Amino acid sequence: MSSRAVEDVHDPVVAGVDLGGTKIQTIVARGDEILGQARLPTPEESPGAVASAIAQTVHSALEAADAQASWLRSVGVGSPGRAQDGVVSHSPNVVGMQDPFPLGATVSRELDDVPVRVDNDVTVATLGELKRGAGRPFGSMLGVFVGTGVGGGLVFDRQIWHGRGGAGEIGHMVVKPEGRRCGCGGHGHLESYAGRASMQAKAERLVASGEHTVLFHLMAKHGRDRMTSGIIERALDHGDAMTERLIDRAIWALGIALASTQNLLDVEAVIVGGGLAERFGRPFVDRIAAQMQPLLFVPDRAPQVLPAELGDLSGAMGAVVLAGG
Ligand SMILES: [Zn+2]
Repeated sequence: MSSRAVEDVHDPVVAGVDLGGTKIQTIVARGDEILGQARLPTPEESPGAVASAIAQTVHSALEAADAQASWLRSVGVGSPGRAQDGVVSHSPNVVGMQDPFPLGATVSRELDDVPVRVDNDVTVATLGELKRGAGRPFGSMLGVFVGTGVGGGLVFDRQIWHGRGGAGEIGHMVVKPEGRRCGCGGHGHLESYAGRASMQAKAERLVASGEHTVLFHLMAKHGRDRMTSGIIERALDHGDAMTERLIDRAIWALGIALASTQNLLDVEAVIVGGGLAERFGRPFVDRIAAQMQPLLFVPDRAPQVLPAELGDLSGAMGAVVLAGG
């Protein structure tokens, strides 16, 4: 009998991995109990290095959980881009994954052939909120995650709707024809107004045209090269008019996109996650709901609009669920 079989008297654990453009966040869980966590910066040299770093975070999280590697039953990974049968593609923010890369098989090989399931990061975060977060009471919901970009996940009858693999791309819904340029190359998309990367680019253009803001001063002071939600909060605390305008515009765009989506789908709830929702919580989400209200076709049956409950663990917890944990 192998030592593995002897150790299997322990209840198995699963690992959930949230692969982001800048960091890898991994948890080890048994059911909805988080036993250990680990994080690493996302390597920038090769997709193989990314897979190795993922395996490393799994080992570190197992260690933090006081769990043996042999207790690991499966691993779930939420990755930017498209994911089909463990192969990731169309992921420009992770090195080497714009072209198809067999992330699932590569991570599995690094972890003694433990099964690895991979899905899109926003789909996985929506799954986390559905099963373990704010989405628990609802049969149908839309998850929208407002971060560097804007992504969405759709749930009908408590199942994720994948479409043909590309459903949920609410960030690239047109809210203003011929409007601001989007990171995808299109114009006037929700993400062009509500994604932090686009908000930062807009602020840079406004400064170049002579307008004033404390945003870039705050970024320099706090050693940030990106306009994080923390920087945005500080700027608002300073009463920075440009930041207020950027946030107003983001909420305007979210209101249009979410009300239009609601008119089409009639879901029970809209769950809003991502950096801004985590930082500003209810007040931010209530402003979005107010912006949606006059645009709803059936205004007296508005969906519940709620902040995500799992915070920045939506992705990792969703990956645990994806792994069968
Ligand atoms: Zn776009």
